[in-house]
Amino acid sequence: MSTYTAIILAGGSGKRMGSDIPKQYLKLGGKPLLYYPLMTFEHSKIDEIILVVAEGEEEYCRKRFVEAYGLTKVKAIVAGGKERYDSVYQGLMQATGDYVLIHDGARAFITEEIIHNTMEEVQKCHACIVAVPVKDTIKQADSNQVVTATVDRSCLWSVQTPQAFERELLVISYKKVQEQSMEGITDDAMIVERAGNGPVKVVLGSYENIKITTPEDMVYGEAILAHRQGV
Ligand code: C5P
Repeated sequence: MSTYTAIILAGGSGKRMGSDIPKQYLKLGGKPLLYYPLMTFEHSKIDEIILVVAEGEEEYCRKRFVEAYGLTKVKAIVAGGKERYDSVYQGLMQATGDYVLIHDGARAFITEEIIHNTMEEVQKCHACIVAVPVKDTIKQADSNQVVTATVDRSCLWSVQTPQAFERELLVISYKKVQEQSMEGITDDAMIVERAGNGPVKVVLGSYENIKITTPEDMVYGEAILAHRQGV
């Protein structure tokens, strides 16, 4: 039977939140933000979790999350790197599953259903990403903010996480792209695409699967929590 590793990323500095406390530790519904995705993956069919945190915060996170909430699937807590793709790589080096699901720790509202759909899809297609159709009209503009084109939105997707890959496929893709250039890499699928190891399939996500980035996202996050609790 295939095995699955979740790599949960919480190694960012969260500068856009404008808070002294890193955003993954900010309280949402009385619990630190990172509690939510960790719990959802813990309760899912994932076999192991690798948690990636900022350098020096490994022990703190072990106590604050793994011990405090009795998490049994966290196999390693590792220090991340400068860029998101460096953090992913550190997690990837510890992963042992046939497949890896990479998830932003700041996406607190991931559901078990989306995780399981992603696990099913990656087994069929080797690489897939969670995304939702864009709702807005998207335009291109030049440096003077003059519209140059209106993009056909029927083929546009707003990309979320998890992003899932056959572990070996992602490892060889990293090696190839690392030898060339990692410049401009903003998500995991781009590494597989740039290495020419696609195709990458899209799995339907949820508009609630937001990435908590700026202070107003915390307000929205509290509303999503209340909505889920039927308040
Ligand atoms: O910065 P951004 O919000 O795009 O980061 C997405 C996720 O990646 C966050 O959960 C953040 O903690 C993580 N990250 C990381 N290491 C970095 C940068 C971001 O683990 N160097």
